[in-house]
Amino acid sequence: MCLSEEQQILRTSIKDFVKRYVVPKLNEIKNGKFPRDVLRELGKNGFFNVMIPGFGVQDSYSYSLIVEELASASPSLAWLYVTHVAAAYALSRMGSEDQRSQYIEKMADGRLLSTIAITEPVSGATAAAVQTKAELTGQTWTINGSKTFITMASDADIFIIMARSSSEKPVFTDFILRSDDRGVSRSASLKGSGMPGIGWGELFFENVETGQDRVLGNRDEGIKIIPTIAKVFTIGAASISLGIMDMLNENVLEHIKERKINGSSLSSFQIVQDRYLHMYTNDQAASALIYRAAINDDIKLAYAAKVFATEKAIENAVAASRLFGANGYESSVGITSYIDDALAVPLHFINNDVLTGLFMNSV
Ligand SMILES: Cc1cc2nc3c(=O)[nH]c(=O)nc-3n(C[C@H](O)[C@H](O)[C@H](O)COP(=O)(O)OP(=O)(O)OC[C@H]3O[C@@H](n4cnc5c(N)ncnc54)[C@H](O)[C@@H]3O)c2cc1C
Repeated sequence: MCLSEEQQILRTSIKDFVKRYVVPKLNEIKNGKFPRDVLRELGKNGFFNVMIPGFGVQDSYSYSLIVEELASASPSLAWLYVTHVAAAYALSRMGSEDQRSQYIEKMADGRLLSTIAITEPVSGATAAAVQTKAELTGQTWTINGSKTFITMASDADIFIIMARSSSEKPVFTDFILRSDDRGVSRSASLKGSGMPGIGWGELFFENVETGQDRVLGNRDEGIKIIPTIAKVFTIGAASISLGIMDMLNENVLEHIKERKINGSSLSSFQIVQDRYLHMYTNDQAASALIYRAAINDDIKLAYAAKVFATEKAIENAVAASRLFGANGYESSVGITSYIDDALAVPLHFINNDVLTGLFMNSV
């Protein structure tokens, strides 16, 4: 796809950024360290601005290029980037003027990190089953409940949470909570099979008292956060999977050309050629779909791109492991770890199996 001059500059600058700030931290992230300093640098260098209204040109294509480049170096970092951008996007779209002026600038430059916390142990993929309660007495909301499987539970400064706001009707209200609010606590004890370093954990709300100024959007209309962030979530998730595929394809191509058995390179075997052709086609088809969705801001294409790219990345990660053989299974190379990274993406950023319903409503 064609890139404008600005997009070409952006692509070069994110590649430079990756070399300068991400590559030196890759081992730390792989070992589970939350990369707060790298996220701060992303903010300082203006990379959050592409999707945060009021702080640069809104451009979903540039956003997808940034996520893809980050993911091809570190899927976990790309995951955190998408998470924070989505929360900032929600706040900028749904927030009051006061809320925007209080938070958005600091979110755009990475001083404040944010996450969206919807999932609960019993509600899982079904947002409308959320049990956390918010009760209004006078002008004060009291929030009680918990969230689980939350990205950045360990380190976010701002949590956008959804709570049930009526005991009679299944209606929800979104709130902006801060990590230092009285009654908010967190545990970053969860360890995923993939996506190391994302600060995955639980949040607990015990008699958290907040005012109306922390209500995000309209009371009882909290479920609207899902369509609001759908574009950022789906294009972001699809681009994470695309970055994983780019990186694997590059490594696989080099490996099958270089590794020789009885004097012949792996790439001379027809089964190897066939596997690589499928990997290449998946990568190219996913990028075409994602870029088209992003350029046209087409939500139904974005849903399709998310499902396609996330499923194909798993297929490619498995194929890459086969082509690397035991050399890829060996932990210092660790090609198989990308299977675990790829497996996480369909589960979150609107679970693929829930997304099909949103897709049908959009066509
Ligand atoms: C690495 C990682 C990070 C995450 N970060 C966050 C975060 O920051 N914030 C957050 O809120 N959540 C986060 N999640 C949670 C994620 O959104 C949930 O895992 C997801 O919503 C599915 O919930 P569940 O895992 O409890 O699956 P369950 O609800 O138990 O569902 C299991 C499977 O059943 C099917 N299913 C369930 N419900 C439906 C339905 N209504 N329609 C169709 N099929 C259905 C799907 O196949 C689903 O995968 C994260 C998850 C992962 C893996």
